[in-house]
Amino acid sequence: MKGTMLYGPGDVRFEELDMPEIVEPTDAIIRVSVTCVCGSDLWPFRGLQPMNGPTPMGHEYCGVVEEVGKDVTSVKPGQFVIGSFATSDNHCPNCTYGYHSSCTQREFITRAQAPYLRVPLADGTLVPTPEMPSEDMMPGLLTTSDVLGTGWYAADAANVKPGVTAVVVGDGAVGLMATLSAKQMGAERIIVMSRNPARQALAREFGATDIVEERGDEGVARILDMTKGIGADSVLECVGTQQSMQQAIRTTRRGGYTSYVGVPHGVELSGQEMFFSHIHLHGGPAPVRKYLPELIKLVLDEVIDPGKVFDLVLPLEQVAEGYKAMDERRAIKALLRP
Ligand SMILES: [Zn+2]
Ligand SMILES: [Zn+2]
Repeated sequence: MKGTMLYGPGDVRFEELDMPEIVEPTDAIIRVSVTCVCGSDLWPFRGLQPMNGPTPMGHEYCGVVEEVGKDVTSVKPGQFVIGSFATSDNHCPNCTYGYHSSCTQREFITRAQAPYLRVPLADGTLVPTPEMPSEDMMPGLLTTSDVLGTGWYAADAANVKPGVTAVVVGDGAVGLMATLSAKQMGAERIIVMSRNPARQALAREFGATDIVEERGDEGVARILDMTKGIGADSVLECVGTQQSMQQAIRTTRRGGYTSYVGVPHGVELSGQEMFFSHIHLHGGPAPVRKYLPELIKLVLDEVIDPGKVFDLVLPLEQVAEGYKAMDERRAIKALLRP
């Protein structure tokens, strides 16, 4: 089969790879129905994250089970399944506390931009749908594998509840999904920080009530201005830079919640500032597996339509163009069809 490899900055290749095989008795092999490019794939693509030689890429996936190892009991060949980017056994203490992405047996999926994928810990990682979903459900279901699960976690970790004022920092795919999630959890006011007209429009569709274009100190001043100088109840940081993190912390009210789901790059926090900010800070890699059953149901029942975040659809062999389009911000998120 042919799959996706990143050789170095800007160098994505679609080339011959070995067919995945069952290695452990707890593995499953799935035939990937749809996959996509993640914002986090762009860090190594841009040369902003060190690489150890050529790396297989992709961690967002859904598809049909082809084969399972002899110890797998909860999924079987022919079933349509969705899994997280982090594998989990679903029963260690970290999983039991709801932090599946810190499972003591965790592995990160990293070759999903390919027609076939080996998923370790299949029983604890994969969630089947009740039946084979229709083609038009695929984009929405794919989002539950990471981008929606991460946005949902951003809202959950920021304690979004009915009636709160929420701020979303970042208008990338995760920020947009965080906006949808905050709306679904009942936020009354959702302020999205974005400078891009197309993304602003989508943010409004997903539930944004206000858009703020300013950044840094000016952005902070605008949010404080809009919240009577107090700050917001819930601030969802979906970027991962020093500026976005500072902005998030400085716009959270005393006693409020800042969540952070953008992988931090060069972020350093001041102990003094944290001490006097009086905020709750909660983030990290999203425990997507915890949310999968609920999110799959919301998509299948057409309560939410997160699949709209894909504004570019490409055959898998054009994966390099997907990276390029997202890198140049011509596309929000690229869906790939093997
Ligand atoms: Zn991802
Ligand atoms: Zn676990």
